[in-house]
Amino acid sequence: MKYEVHDMAGKYLKVQCKCGNEQVVFSHTTSVVKCSGCKEPLAHPSGGTAVIHGKIVEELG
Ligand SMILES: [Zn+2]
Repeated sequence: MKYEVHDMAGKYLKVQCKCGNEQVVFSHTTSVVKCSGCKEPLAHPSGGTAVIHGKIVEELG
């Protein structure tokens, strides 16, 4: 599952990995974010925004 963030300001997203771990990811991350549970990438930068790999369970603003 992929989710592309189109919000210009950026926000923090709580993302649930496929392994079940939940982790907060900045929507405009400039580096690859890896899951602290299974070490799979949870997000990677894409033209100023992030592509999220996983399920967004909450937007933290
Ligand atoms: Zn994981």
